[in-house]
Amino acid sequence: MIAVTEMLSPLAETRQWQEELYVHLHQHPELSLHETATAAEIERRLQSFGYDVHAVGGGVVGILRNGDGPVVLARADIDALPVTEQTGLPYASTATAVDDAGNTVGVMHACGHDVHITSLLGAAELMARTREPWSGTFVALFQPAEEIAVGAAAMVEAGLTDVVPRPDVALAQHVLGYEAGTVGTRMGPMLSAADSIRITLHGSGSHGSMPHLGVDPILLAAAVVQRLQGIVSRELPPGERAVVTVGSLQAGTKSNIIPDRATLLVNTRVYSDEVRATVLGAIERIVRAECEASGSPQPPTFEYYDRFPLTDNDAEITRTVTEAFRAHFGEDRVFELAPVPASEDFSRIPAAFGTPYTYWGLGGFPAGTVAPPNHSPGFAPVLQPTLTTGTEAIVVAALAYLTKDAS
Ligand code: ZN
Ligand code: ZN
Repeated sequence: MIAVTEMLSPLAETRQWQEELYVHLHQHPELSLHETATAAEIERRLQSFGYDVHAVGGGVVGILRNGDGPVVLARADIDALPVTEQTGLPYASTATAVDDAGNTVGVMHACGHDVHITSLLGAAELMARTREPWSGTFVALFQPAEEIAVGAAAMVEAGLTDVVPRPDVALAQHVLGYEAGTVGTRMGPMLSAADSIRITLHGSGSHGSMPHLGVDPILLAAAVVQRLQGIVSRELPPGERAVVTVGSLQAGTKSNIIPDRATLLVNTRVYSDEVRATVLGAIERIVRAECEASGSPQPPTFEYYDRFPLTDNDAEITRTVTEAFRAHFGEDRVFELAPVPASEDFSRIPAAFGTPYTYWGLGGFPAGTVAPPNHSPGFAPVLQPTLTTGTEAIVVAALAYLTKDAS
């Protein structure tokens, strides 16, 4: 506790640049895989704190070696979303960008990754400023393209494990719709694994007045959509959590033409690899069987994309970090988080090293208000105490492993 208090004492000074940086980042959001200015800003700051800085796969890693001891890695994601901000904040983003489809879109930090960047940079400075109470290595990792599930893999493929010493513990946090100043932890599965599937169903085109001469892919698609909803209700045990959503169904052009294909975009969320295999297997089985039932002229195709791994918090690390949070923040500011149906690619980073991890929720909204959901145009965390709590949480969790007198 003495170490924590000493380490956090410069917060009174870091707080000011953190708030300014947060506003700057909020006004200059960048889409996934386009985070160049954001990454450059992070590199500059880490260098000024005295970190050994590396650009890896579109992200940035800062390494602070401070004698013998464990290696603790903390990760922040840095990308923004194609959302036009409607928060009414004085520092609201007015940024636009051309997306990969060629459309001009509003760009916004609608998932709070600006909170994550600012908190981790603040923690990075605190770790660098006061080095006497701790020993070991602190790694601050800034990951691109979380929103499209490719950034963590890109860093791993670019040689992350050659640049960074193997961490003993990995940490990450996400701002969520809870009260600012609180943190929520959870052991075990915490964020869902997700898959998106583009399914093409083949029919046979015909005149709308002569359906008997074709195979109607729209009727086929309708049967598939109905049938898929039986997976969660009929094939999973009661109490098991999963979601199967058909988010898009496209076919045809005109009322008197039977088209030759239909395309479904399906999204799934599950909390174990076993259930994932069951759900994906059931989707493919049902689609193939319905195609067979319709007399489809060729088998369906399945293209998987936006695949997120399960975020499954290590029990021992979560227990240690939760105890450290309780000791620092007090019991009333630490709660047990319910599983969140959203997904993350963070776990690919610890997985690349074989490192256990914990991922916690950071409250970001005034007490008694209904927070707008992440990704909505109204998503506006309050600056404080969100930033300070996010910064403290990383330092407190890291010190649970790095403090010299830690057991
Ligand atoms: Zn998001
Ligand atoms: Zn996010």
